[in-house]
Amino acid sequence: MNVKQFPVIIIGAGPAGCVCSLFLSDFKIPHLIIEKGSFPRDKICGDAVSGKMLEIIAKLHPEAVKKFAADQEKAVLSYGMEFKAPNGQTVGIPFPKPKGDLPIGFVSKRMDFDYFLYQLTDSEYATRWENASLEEIHREGKVVNLMINKNQETIELSGQMIIAADGSRSIAKKKLLGDEVDEKHYCAGIRAYYKGVKDLHPQNFIELHFYKELLPGYFWIFPLPNGYANVGMGMLSKKVSEKKINLRKEMLHLIETHPALKDRFKDAVLDGKINGWGLPLGSKKRPLSGEQIILTGDAASLIDPFTGEGIGNAGVSGMVAARIAKSAIENQNFSADFLKQYDQIIYDKLWNELQLSYRIQRLSSIPWLFNFVVNKITNNKQLREIFTNMFINLDLRAKLKSPMFYFKLLFNR
Ligand SMILES: Cc1cc2nc3c(=O)[nH]c(=O)nc-3n(C[C@H](O)[C@H](O)[C@H](O)COP(=O)(O)OP(=O)(O)OC[C@H]3O[C@@H](n4cnc5c(N)ncnc54)[C@H](O)[C@@H]3O)c2cc1C
Repeated sequence: MNVKQFPVIIIGAGPAGCVCSLFLSDFKIPHLIIEKGSFPRDKICGDAVSGKMLEIIAKLHPEAVKKFAADQEKAVLSYGMEFKAPNGQTVGIPFPKPKGDLPIGFVSKRMDFDYFLYQLTDSEYATRWENASLEEIHREGKVVNLMINKNQETIELSGQMIIAADGSRSIAKKKLLGDEVDEKHYCAGIRAYYKGVKDLHPQNFIELHFYKELLPGYFWIFPLPNGYANVGMGMLSKKVSEKKINLRKEMLHLIETHPALKDRFKDAVLDGKINGWGLPLGSKKRPLSGEQIILTGDAASLIDPFTGEGIGNAGVSGMVAARIAKSAIENQNFSADFLKQYDQIIYDKLWNELQLSYRIQRLSSIPWLFNFVVNKITNNKQLREIFTNMFINLDLRAKLKSPMFYFKLLFNR
């Protein structure tokens, strides 16, 4: 049989895979990107896309990002976040003004956003296969052999280097690096689309509701185009198993009975099903590469442990993976030792942030502390400004993990 060969093969065309492909094309490196679905395709998500991701795409395609963000059928620009404490107190934190003319962030159905990204990939350097699912992968000497099911036909391929961008259930990672799911560092999430939820924020703030029974997880309402909202809930998998919680039932129960929700959802209509998917959290360091393989996005478990945001870090890892792939090709070195620099760069860029969010996640599971902080912020303009800047300033965010911060809050210092 004639086995096709590619220097770099990307598995999965979600945000991590597409960003990697965009940067490989920018470096003029031919590659194959395979996707088991066909675009436009859905992905279970809260659909909130932060400025972190937009800045990465804008490095190569600034005008395309601005055009997409301005399309009111596809994206709703969001100007802040509303936190609802367990005691019902609400505080709105505006996002800080973005540098330059990029939007700070938006909410866009992944059906639209991922298709937008996929269309940006460049067919001059990227061979793009949809309906192509990785079925089998193993190393043999200096190459990696793959078996792909493309439109019901089996195709054998080989590559020098694999970029695993196939999400939280990555087959590439499982087969080449091994896999384990640690429930303390994994979150279960569900998502639904509703039309007609009342009283959405006039500036499209995304809403995070921290109900006591879900802590440290939360219920969310994110505004979407055309009167829709993305409504969902996420909770640590460990808690879900311990408490034997059925997330779908819990969410419907909250919507029907919770005093802060029932009137807002009275005339709202559920569009489609309530779907669930896992969120591999980046609260624990893991190997991110190995012999001839680099893990990106959810395959690398890089989701923010407090906010559940994973698209931005998928983008960061896709971009760095492309740079390392370029260097590996130039040096003709695809060894685990050589690729280890990828782990170093990713954790240098993201570990502080991930660790802080993990601390905040753990603190937020204490309802009285959460209530207390939200009360204080609500009543103090200066403090609100500090929290606004925390989204861009890690030193400020670090304050949240210090006991002194709460002491000062308590005594108004
Ligand atoms: C309920 C929920 C809510 C979330 N909300 C948010 C949010 O609001 N904002 C945010 O930033 N993040 C959110 N996240 C996290 C976010 O969805 C992920 O971090 C992000 O999608 C990761 O991108 P990725 O490219 O690594 O993986 P994915 O987006 O999962 O893409 C992987 C791609 O690989 C393809 N694939 C899988 N297996 C194969 C195979 N064998 N062969 C070929 N292709 C394959 C898939 O079809 C898919 O297209 C949420 C996640 C969940 C579950």
